[in-house]
Amino acid sequence: MQSYPDSLKKLVEQLMKLPGVGRKTADRLAFHLVRVPRREAESLAAAVLEVKDRLSLCSSCQNLTDTDPCPICADPGRDRRLLCVVEMPADVTAIEKSGAFNGRYFVLHGCVAPLQGLGPDDLRLDRLQNLVEREEIQEVIVSTNLTVEGNATAVFIAELLKPLDVRVSRPACGLPVGADFEYMDPVTIEKSILGRCRL
Ligand SMILES: [Zn+2]
Repeated sequence: MQSYPDSLKKLVEQLMKLPGVGRKTADRLAFHLVRVPRREAESLAAAVLEVKDRLSLCSSCQNLTDTDPCPICADPGRDRRLLCVVEMPADVTAIEKSGAFNGRYFVLHGCVAPLQGLGPDDLRLDRLQNLVEREEIQEVIVSTNLTVEGNATAVFIAELLKPLDVRVSRPACGLPVGADFEYMDPVTIEKSILGRCRL
């Protein structure tokens, strides 16, 4: 990179900060950006800035949104008695695609992972508890991934919500061990939600 002009070097360095982008990929992306028309480069830069300016967390479900509350929480057609807890915003997209769920969501932005120093406080589970207490939620479907951490999180949430008058369930039917909702096909998600078991 020493032979690169400063501006190109700077771009490669910035791209290398992105997850999963090593030196080779950063080079490829940078040379691609050098070649694209100025308008395309401006659109990319504007999209990055717009996300930084506009995107925030929904005050109810913690999903990423441009408006607060998010469109799902604001939708009067949603069943307010059902709440689906997921690890990441991408899981909401995957479950929405399956069409099997018409309630609302709560996004944890992670799971309880003691080895990585992530405890219940980092997941703002108190917000989940408050939401269930405050609203007339009858069932919480804990759709954390089927990994060791995801299962531990589900058990923790079930314990947390035990004192409240709410049914806590977990999608299970047909899901492979270690499964990640984000990468599951819609039919499998639909089956797993319809065949959920009580925790
Ligand atoms: Zn929301």
